[in-house]
Amino acid sequence: MKPLDTLREQVRRDRVFDFMVPKTGLELDVSHGTILYLEGLTVSFDGFKAIDDLNLYVGAGELRCIIGPNGAGKTTMMDIVTGKTRPDQGSAWFGQRIDLLRLNESEIAEAGIGRKFQKPTVFEQHSVFENLEMAMAGDKRVWPTLYARLNGEQRDRIDQVLDLIGLADARRERAGALSHGQKQWLEIGMLLMQNPKLLLVDEPVAGMTHQEMDRTAELLNSLAGQHTVVVVEHDMDFVRSIANTVTVLHQGRVLAEGSMEQVQNDPRVVEVYLGE
Ligand code: ADP
Ligand code: MG
Repeated sequence: MKPLDTLREQVRRDRVFDFMVPKTGLELDVSHGTILYLEGLTVSFDGFKAIDDLNLYVGAGELRCIIGPNGAGKTTMMDIVTGKTRPDQGSAWFGQRIDLLRLNESEIAEAGIGRKFQKPTVFEQHSVFENLEMAMAGDKRVWPTLYARLNGEQRDRIDQVLDLIGLADARRERAGALSHGQKQWLEIGMLLMQNPKLLLVDEPVAGMTHQEMDRTAELLNSLAGQHTVVVVEHDMDFVRSIANTVTVLHQGRVLAEGSMEQVQNDPRVVEVYLGE
């Protein structure tokens, strides 16, 4: 084999490998029904406790909403789960066997935790399909040489995700030409190409039209079950439309947790929101 062919073959094999096997070598174990265990977490910034003895548990396959006033610690909590911020105290486990505090950011991603930031970051010059293809490849430098080399399983996966995110008809469109809402869905699709078990989504409907919000609610609902989804969101109508369980964070702790109705009628929650 010529060197270039050898390289391509290697890349092709690695990519199939990437798609199927977590590199940490750690199996996610959710046999107790819980996928995320955060216990006794504390994080201080210059003496100020952004997270203060936080205990939070998320069930496997759940669609959980996290709400709370500005500065409650929502983003910091996600930063801990994804390895961006290290806590001063406490523990964070992904299933029963994966200790998140022993892994770095890329190992956590490889273990099956995906994060969607607020601003969409799609490759505007490339088509919707190519964006999903690149997301699957992981290594963005090699993708052009691989374009014609997708195997059937990989094509099926892209088609499946295109349907899920409602962009099957837009597969050949340039991502830069999509609406804001469509870009957000494409980015969720790009995360799905990595097959995450847990998806963290920060304020997905900011800037969306009502129609786009409804579609996003449907999309997140359809992911639950196969994936676990944790959504931080301010828009209460949106939260009401998707959540089974809502967790209210306040001053780095869980203030209340339950159905939207329970949480809304909790006097402590009312006070926090009215006092904002
Ligand atoms: P939320 O996402 O709920 O609005 P954050 O997690 O962003 O809250 O912030 C919680 C608190 O921690 C805020 O008071 C914020 O100012 C502070 N904070 C967050 N990150 C840092 C940082 N890197 N350095 C200093 N303070 C921070
Ligand atoms: Mg935030």
